[in-house]
Amino acid sequence: MFETLPVAPPDSILGLSDEFQKDTRKEKVNLTVGVFKDDLGQTPVLASVKAAEAKILDSEKSKGYLGIEGLVAYNTAVTQLALGKLFPSERVATLQSPGGTGALRIAGDVAANFSMTKRIWVSDPTWANHTAIFTAAGLEVKVYPYLSSDRVSADIEATIEHLEKHAQVGDLICLHACCHNPTGIDPSGVQWESLATSISKLRMIPLIDFAYQGFGDGLPNDRFAVEHLLSMCPEAIVCASFSKNFGLYSERTGAAMFICADEAAAIATLSQAKQVVRSNYSNPPRHGAAIVAEILNDVELCEQWQGEVDAMRSRIDRMRKSFVAGMSESGCDQDFSFLNKQKGMFSYSGLSKDHAAWLKTNRAIYILGTGRINVAGMSDKTMDYLCTSLAQCIADVSQPSTK
Ligand code: PMP
Repeated sequence: MFETLPVAPPDSILGLSDEFQKDTRKEKVNLTVGVFKDDLGQTPVLASVKAAEAKILDSEKSKGYLGIEGLVAYNTAVTQLALGKLFPSERVATLQSPGGTGALRIAGDVAANFSMTKRIWVSDPTWANHTAIFTAAGLEVKVYPYLSSDRVSADIEATIEHLEKHAQVGDLICLHACCHNPTGIDPSGVQWESLATSISKLRMIPLIDFAYQGFGDGLPNDRFAVEHLLSMCPEAIVCASFSKNFGLYSERTGAAMFICADEAAAIATLSQAKQVVRSNYSNPPRHGAAIVAEILNDVELCEQWQGEVDAMRSRIDRMRKSFVAGMSESGCDQDFSFLNKQKGMFSYSGLSKDHAAWLKTNRAIYILGTGRINVAGMSDKTMDYLCTSLAQCIADVSQPSTK
């Protein structure tokens, strides 16, 4: 069978990363991939994680399998972290998952098996893997408008109008709890309130992707949308990732939380979700979850970790401000101050495919063709180079062609 297989297209983001690795120009800057970087361009292991690992290494007695739903102490702690006010609740069924991606796939599989309409709405644009995961799970993926025409703010009125016209009772809707990927543009509090009212009126089921808690307005504040949606909707799914806020990317640490109408429904849902897991990867990996449980259940470690999350967020905010100031000082006539209103690592910069190509060819600066940039990839050391290059790029690319 293999000899007839065509080669699948490379992943658009990881493909660019490969090119970046091979690029020998020493001034190169990578703003493509979705990982946090410190001032030195490293993705560090958090000190709280190292400390928790040392404790685990000391006390660990077995590498035996976890249960299908994962580590109980982890599930309890992360449910409290993600759901806040709703915790504790017998209405919630939580499963540890291999990363946020694994959580989304469990959610997609459960929805494809049991939801009324087998349809899910995703924002235009959204993280590309959303469409891939939900399609692979067997859901029909529909798209709702998200951005205003200037592409620097969210047009939630347009979202609501579209859903009211086209959504059906029982459809799922995928929402980014905070730090929308790829745009960095989150709804305001008032916009979340009107969106939640509309979703509840339409009797849709929110599937909330919570991959960046702590990177927007801080750990508790980033729960605003989750708490508000859960107060209005009797059923929801929250898919959490701890790749970014614990820096546990390769440890595959996430959780799927099913919020059900009552305890009996939560018990049944957990049993069905376990069936989905059993026939997929059987049971989740221990190490990342053990670290998170150790940190969240230890007052000192937890304080240390919260400080580290705050420091990551502050660095991103500082890079945003420094970039906006640098662009304004560069003499570029394009205003980038909208970046200061965006949240999280990503930003829709307004730059085009042509800008991306120019930057790569002429300055070894890598951004996605959609204009998405990872602000965490910027540093004090490269900021001047980045801003002067970008100003030149904008001037050159905007020149009317003479050919
Ligand atoms: N959702 C969004 C919006 C993401 O950006 C990501 C990671 N890039 C994920 C989910 C998945 O995270 P993980 O690496 O934990 O699978």
